[in-house]
Amino acid sequence: MRSVSVFGATGSVGESTFDLLMRQGGPAVYRCVALTGGQKVERLAEMARALQAEVAVTADEACLPALRAALAGSGVEAQAGHAAIAEAADRPADWVMSAIVGAAGLVPGMRALRHGRTLALANKESLVTAGPLLMRTAVAHGARILPVDSEHSAIFQALVGEDMAAVERIILTASGGALRDWPLERLAAATVKEALAHPNWAMGPRITIDSASMFNKALEVIETREYFGIAPDQIEVIIHPESLIHSLVGFRDGAVMAHLGAADMRHPIGYALNWPERMPLPVARLDLAALGQLTFRAPDPARYPALRLAFEVMATGGLAGAVFNAAKEVALDHFIAGSLGFAQMAGLVEASLARLSSDICLGKAVGGLEDVLEADHLTRIRAREIAAAMQVR
Ligand code: NAD
Ligand code: MG
Repeated sequence: MRSVSVFGATGSVGESTFDLLMRQGGPAVYRCVALTGGQKVERLAEMARALQAEVAVTADEACLPALRAALAGSGVEAQAGHAAIAEAADRPADWVMSAIVGAAGLVPGMRALRHGRTLALANKESLVTAGPLLMRTAVAHGARILPVDSEHSAIFQALVGEDMAAVERIILTASGGALRDWPLERLAAATVKEALAHPNWAMGPRITIDSASMFNKALEVIETREYFGIAPDQIEVIIHPESLIHSLVGFRDGAVMAHLGAADMRHPIGYALNWPERMPLPVARLDLAALGQLTFRAPDPARYPALRLAFEVMATGGLAGAVFNAAKEVALDHFIAGSLGFAQMAGLVEASLARLSSDICLGKAVGGLEDVLEADHLTRIRAREIAAAMQVR
């Protein structure tokens, strides 16, 4: 019986993972080890009961009594706090879903890799902050990382049976986000609610806003470099408003392989869950004749400064990814809290990168986890200072 754990089970990717585990037989087929979540403890307990998990962990220690109460009589252990989440990753499981949002996903993911597990990686922030470390750890411990981000799953699938040496370029598609058709001068006044109105995908709130600002695609460009080991100048981004082509790989003979499918995360999650097999998945089938056409356009650098920053970060290398991600998380916190305008997020990230370059050697190769966590921590302090000095515009 295959054993599984889901980190970030109560989020958007976590819910889709749970849905697939239940559809594919639930506790009759999978031995569920750990499920983790945040404050939605009722839902976490419900999932843990349904999958007969060994342990359920809430990130929030204040939620432990409520989690205990919700699990009473179930036989599922209740735990709380970040140390408990990291320890849950030490429990033996064959397949581990990493679907916590933000840099908080890094430590449990690293712990799972150190035990040689198969890590289904939705948490792109871990590759952005510590890509070389993650890839090295996987190799050293015979672990495997399977991409879950839809673009990276698409690329991974387009590369089956191919030689990386024959790859000329990787083309990431982007929807353009909720504000893609707004006049540039209106962007500064965009509200959280407006940035949350994603045209195609239903996702967690943070990644949805990151899609509107293209910070999500910026993270994915770096994720592509780290996961596939391709040079930055071989990575392109194109806006594809329909979100049906999930990405493309161009080969040296001029051929381009595209991956198409409904905009439903249960496809890439199910692919990683069943890999290397393909199993039937409950996703809508494409009707190309009904669609009629697919459209594309180049991203406007003035609208999406985050993309330029991603290429600057890759040129610097080392700890720049950790700084970039942490500054982006702080910028997003401030935008959500109303203390920073939508168009100011990129400015805060750029100023943080400049500021941190005088505190730490940004280009220094990523050594151990401690280096990364320290860069992340220091960036958050500096970015908050810079944000406090900025006027909302
Ligand atoms: P979400 O906000 O819906 O869920 C996040 C989950 O992580 C929740 O279970 C929450 O309780 C938990 N969590 C949040 N902060 C935490 C912390 N500090 N410590 C421990 N747990 C914490 O997020 P999501 O949209 O499901 O995204 C999860 C990850 O997957 C992100 O890295 C995102 O970029 C990536 N991803 C998501 C989608 C999508 O369709 N939602 C697509 C591709 C990639
Ligand atoms: Mg994606």
